[in-house]
Amino acid sequence: MMVLDCLGKFLIIDAGFRMPEEDMPGIDYLIPNTGWLKEHSQRIVGAVFTHGHYDHIGAIPYCWNRLGNPKMFMGKLAKGIVLKRQQQFSFQPRLNITEIEDSSKFKLGPFEIEAFRQNHNIPDNYGLLIKTPLGNIVHTSDFKFDRAPINDLPTDFKRLKKIGKEKILLLISDSTGAENEGRSLSERTIFKNLEKIFKEASGRIIGSTFASHLNRTQQLIELSAKYGRKVILEGLSMKNNVEIARTLKYIKAEKGLLKKAQDLRKLPEKQITLICTGAQGEEGATLMKIANGDYRFLKLKPGDSIIFSSSVIPGNERSVQYLKDQFYRKGAKVYHYKMLDIHASGHAYEEELLEMIKIMKPKFLMPVHGQFSMLVKHKEIGQKAGLKPENIKVMENGQVLNINNARAIIEKREVPAGQVMVDGLGIGDVGEIVLRDRQQLAKDGMFVIVAVVDKQHGKVKGSPDIISRGFVYLRENKELLQETRKRVISIVEKTTGRGGAVNWQYVKEELRNQISQFLFYKIKRRPMVMPVIIEV
Ligand SMILES: [Zn+2]
Repeated sequence: MMVLDCLGKFLIIDAGFRMPEEDMPGIDYLIPNTGWLKEHSQRIVGAVFTHGHYDHIGAIPYCWNRLGNPKMFMGKLAKGIVLKRQQQFSFQPRLNITEIEDSSKFKLGPFEIEAFRQNHNIPDNYGLLIKTPLGNIVHTSDFKFDRAPINDLPTDFKRLKKIGKEKILLLISDSTGAENEGRSLSERTIFKNLEKIFKEASGRIIGSTFASHLNRTQQLIELSAKYGRKVILEGLSMKNNVEIARTLKYIKAEKGLLKKAQDLRKLPEKQITLICTGAQGEEGATLMKIANGDYRFLKLKPGDSIIFSSSVIPGNERSVQYLKDQFYRKGAKVYHYKMLDIHASGHAYEEELLEMIKIMKPKFLMPVHGQFSMLVKHKEIGQKAGLKPENIKVMENGQVLNINNARAIIEKREVPAGQVMVDGLGIGDVGEIVLRDRQQLAKDGMFVIVAVVDKQHGKVKGSPDIISRGFVYLRENKELLQETRKRVISIVEKTTGRGGAVNWQYVKEELRNQISQFLFYKIKRRPMVMPVIIEV
């Protein structure tokens, strides 16, 4: 999410989510912290959304209402995806969305905005020329240059050059591909390589890509039609996206081409393409189920071909390797982007970024999108394009760039911009403490002690009960348990004194501390110890 402030009026650009880190068990998404923006919500004049990827629209259901439901502008496809998702949040007020298309012009407060078509891996993606009284800004959106795309028009360089003549003060440009040398591959090349696989395949083809990568899905559908295969889609997000894109005519699929999962058993193998999600090795996704033999409608066998048509997101390498090994074990053929160019990035590589800067000739450059290292690399590219290093602003979330015709400085003040965790319907209710508990539970499990104590005399009655999960297998650790019980009794009896006015909180605190230390001393693990005392 980005906010432009001109003469005290705010324009929001995109509001997406990020996937959680590995050490955030149970967290669904990370969304931007909009606390500060909420305090100033009366200043918001509207919002523009560049395209329908979740990292650009995903936070809408979680923050739009609390920001006062500002006016939204977005392409037809993004609107379709946003409204479909909004059905799961039907208790929220209706969104006020205006559709935009290539060359759309609209005014929001002091911002005069013009949308221009940009190539990416999803159709209906728009860069923005934003004219303000202080100068002109270009926001590239996620983009790549493609002279021969599939399912889209080629990059309109004439148009871009025309925009470049508008005296651009600030270029805000996509950095995701900055660390890759040269130019990104054209979708046309990918199509040709995919076609080779379709020509040779003797059995079923299972193609896997991101649900949001609609251009790739379109290619797999088109090739299936050409080679006499029916298409089965699996994965809720995949099905939803294709349905929306088909209704809006961004994906072409003849009647009868798409079949249901049940038909996988009826159709001849050579006539089957299954397109599914899960190429990142996600737990529970169809591809993982197929790998483990848990997918009801299809069991792999020699002759089947698996296509991984997406790059591996850092952090997922191991799960993807596991998938590949499982497929090879079952005798299937595996194609991935390292063997064959069957994945094109949707993001401009080094030379394209350089070209964009040269076309726009901005005074200032702000690299956005991607990891910090990519922003820094983009800065180097900017310098290669002839910009002064002090005119390129690499920024962290929450920083404020103060810019006018003469200079751009990163201000000392920052706005609160930490990520907010979303778990189910809870927004921000999982904080550091809950997360730390979850991490501890995931690492060493839990250990519950239940002691019945005679409150008159402060003595433990019978033997304390011990329940544990994810710690040790209790039946095989009888000795440890025996010793723990003895300790529990002695700690309780020491801390209760002779009964009477007992500080039970203190008793529990002591139990927790001493038993934790004891368990750590014995087996070097730190389960979450939870004492329960029943007074009788
Ligand atoms: Zn994108």
